[in-house]
Amino acid sequence: MTHRGISLKQAIVFPVALLMALIIAILTYIEHVGHQQLATEISQKMLKVTVKNTETKLDAFLDAPFQANRVMADSIRHIIELHPANDLEDIQSYLLQAYRKLFVHLPQMSAMGFGDAQGNYVGFRKENDEQLTLLLKDRRSGFNLIGYQGIESSDPQRFSINRYDPRQRPWYLVAKELGKSTWSSIYFNVDEHEDITITTSTPIYLNDKLVGVTASDIQLEQFNQKLREQQRELGGLLYIMDDHGKLIAQSMSGSITTHQHNENLPRRRIYAQASKNPIIQTSAQFVANQDDRYFTDHFQFTIDGVRYYGNVFDFGARYGLNWKIITIFSTDDLLQQIPDMLSTTLVSGALIAIAGLIIGLVIVSRITDPIIKVSYAARSLARGVWKQELQQPSQIRETNMLVNAFNEMSQKLHHSFNQLRQQLLFDHLTGLPTREGLIEHVQRNPYRGQVTLVLIGLNSFRTIKDSLGHLIGDQLLLEMQQRLQQNLPAASELARVGGDEFAICLFDDALNLPSEGVIQSLVQLFNTPFVLDQQEEILITARFGIYQTEQTDQSDVPDWLNKAGLALTTAKQPQSAGIERYHAGLSQKTVDETRMLSDMRQALRRNEFSVFFQPVVNAQDETVTGAEALVRWHCPRRGLVSPAQFIPLAESSGMIIDLGYWILEDACRQVAKKISQEGWRDDFNLHVNLCVTQLGQKDFISQLQAILQRSGLPAKNLTLEITESRLMTQDLESMQVLHQIRELGIGLAIDDFGTGYSSLAYLNQLPFSCLKIDRSFISQLGQDKAHQTIVNAVINMSQGFQCQLVAEGVETAEQRDILRELGCQSIQGFFYAKPAPFTNWPQILVAQCVLQQNRLFESNQTEEESALD
Ligand code: C2E
Ligand code: CA
Ligand code: CA
Repeated sequence: MTHRGISLKQAIVFPVALLMALIIAILTYIEHVGHQQLATEISQKMLKVTVKNTETKLDAFLDAPFQANRVMADSIRHIIELHPANDLEDIQSYLLQAYRKLFVHLPQMSAMGFGDAQGNYVGFRKENDEQLTLLLKDRRSGFNLIGYQGIESSDPQRFSINRYDPRQRPWYLVAKELGKSTWSSIYFNVDEHEDITITTSTPIYLNDKLVGVTASDIQLEQFNQKLREQQRELGGLLYIMDDHGKLIAQSMSGSITTHQHNENLPRRRIYAQASKNPIIQTSAQFVANQDDRYFTDHFQFTIDGVRYYGNVFDFGARYGLNWKIITIFSTDDLLQQIPDMLSTTLVSGALIAIAGLIIGLVIVSRITDPIIKVSYAARSLARGVWKQELQQPSQIRETNMLVNAFNEMSQKLHHSFNQLRQQLLFDHLTGLPTREGLIEHVQRNPYRGQVTLVLIGLNSFRTIKDSLGHLIGDQLLLEMQQRLQQNLPAASELARVGGDEFAICLFDDALNLPSEGVIQSLVQLFNTPFVLDQQEEILITARFGIYQTEQTDQSDVPDWLNKAGLALTTAKQPQSAGIERYHAGLSQKTVDETRMLSDMRQALRRNEFSVFFQPVVNAQDETVTGAEALVRWHCPRRGLVSPAQFIPLAESSGMIIDLGYWILEDACRQVAKKISQEGWRDDFNLHVNLCVTQLGQKDFISQLQAILQRSGLPAKNLTLEITESRLMTQDLESMQVLHQIRELGIGLAIDDFGTGYSSLAYLNQLPFSCLKIDRSFISQLGQDKAHQTIVNAVINMSQGFQCQLVAEGVETAEQRDILRELGCQSIQGFFYAKPAPFTNWPQILVAQCVLQQNRLFESNQTEEESALD
């Protein structure tokens, strides 16, 4: 079986999953936008902080040496004032002292010295090992600039430079030119280190005359380190460039000069725009391209999809410097933890969503599993597996309710089914097995050997029930059951297989006596009347259908019953002695009958039926008073078929209803035509045979009226014949119909009278107008005195009832004479005529039908003629 539609799980999980994904997407988007804004805000703050920090540090870095240099100049001026000598020894010792005591805390100061107006020079340089080197040019050094490996001029030389003139050095020239403390531009040292250096120099005037210049060198590498330290804390990137756009310092490792170790080429400082670092390069370009008029200190740019925030800040105006400090942060630097936090949020959100989904799935499963189980159980239930007990599934109330309801339902169904089965298998009145019960019993108790199945059909049980009441009927059945049970051998099974049918299964090989003996004793059981309430005696006769089989296939029990049933049906027929055994011919008969029935259905459509008429003659004057309509079937395959063959079949199949109406209408039409058109006597009496089944039709009376109307036959011309034996089996309702027929003015004849053994009391209730003595009595007339007595009695009785009397089957003149002598009114039989269509009636008969009419016509004419005369 296929199941359309999506499952409950899908129905719940898909939308929820979709919703969660949507929420996460929206969250991500909002976070991202917020992130951008945050980055911008933070960047501006960070940049400001960094710039401020850098400015302060740079200030301190430059200012301390600047101030120190001024102090130094001041001191040297005093020394020169006190000892105006050519010798620089005093200044040398001052410088050494100052360096050691004061300036040791200024690590950025790499050298300091003094050049006088005469071209002499003294100074100290700090080596990498923090040792000082004396640099001297005066008479002691032979007016060459000599660097010593210590602080004394007696120490070994480190290097020596001829023609060194401090007055030509940039620091000297700029101080001299400006006349105040200042900074030199950036240059490379002339010593062997060739460090990138910037010098602060202060001119010393004595009596307005320049006597020399003090200078302090600051190694920018020191500042680079400072920047690096700072940026290690703050992150981001920072560099400083001069007014030419050349790098002064940068926070990341790497040189700000070219070819540091190639001695063949002069070292040059790098332009920021030419830096190998793409961030420096791009930002420098950006700064350079800015239009000064609109320049803001903040800018942004993107490299490889990473956003950078930059700030440019002018520095050093008060030192005569025109530097730019450029700080750059990338979003990653600024918000390093935030994306982490963001992704943590997203991951935990996703995890929660997945967990939610899983929990949801578990819960949905808790709901759907019981539903699915119930549906499977319901399907089993539909297949007839009644006992279904489902487990309490979970803590979910609704599913528990469903399961409980299902369990309750299956229990009830189970119970009802058992009850139904009980009803199906056992008769509620007698408690005996039913037909199905018998089948099941035999099938469940395997037995090998011969089996005799006896079906007992009660005669006229329905009539007894109708006339004496259901209670009596039930009592009778119980009495009968008791009697049967008492007389049955152990190896048998009794069942009630119909309202008036018992079945007995005899397991022959287990019986003490032959089954024939058992059957005989069963037949005899019905010879004694049944006594109800110890007073009422009822004699009920029965018929027996027997089937005997060697077959031991228990699954054939329904077939056994059918065959015994066939035998019983045969036993119920009038010609039977009341006990019939099944033989193959019976089955053949059934097959034949089935075939005949299907032929008959076609016959009615093809007009193969016709009505023959047999005259009824006045016994005294031998004139025709009427006729009995007798149906004939001209079957193309079978020839002329006798009604004795097909009427019972038509009756048992119900086809008699349609056929009966057709016969009645056709016969009425023909007779009406004879009377109205051919001058037949207007009291011509038409007898039509009627089955009791026809009487049972609800609308029988109205149909009857309609037929009379259509055919134009007056009611007084019609007599309906009903067989005595069949009448006796009828209930009171059909009695009602008989009265209604009589009320219409239609006659009623009791056919085959004498064969039904009806009591006088019963006869008295019947509204008949005619008795037809059965042929069996007539045929014996003249041979058997007893029959003659009976016929005589019937004739007398009819006179008592003041009804018409017809003797059937008169074949001889002798019979006619006796009947005439006994005073019988009407006669019907082959002696006068066989049934035939009106067209085949002998002329003499037809003449008798019109005779009276003609006479009447003649007398009328005479009267008319005389009147004319
Ligand atoms: P039934 O009503 O007793 O009809 C009389 C039967 O006796 C007719 O047989 C008739 O042909 C036959 N018969 C008449 N005179 C003699 C005679 O002198 N000697 C002998 N041996 N027989 C004679 P049929 O026509 O074969 O009818 C047989 C039975 O079929 C009828 O018996 C009647 O019960 C039934 N039947 C015939 N036609 C109809 C019909 O139209 N409707 C119904 N419901 N039953 C019909
Ligand atoms: Ca008849
Ligand atoms: Ca008859």
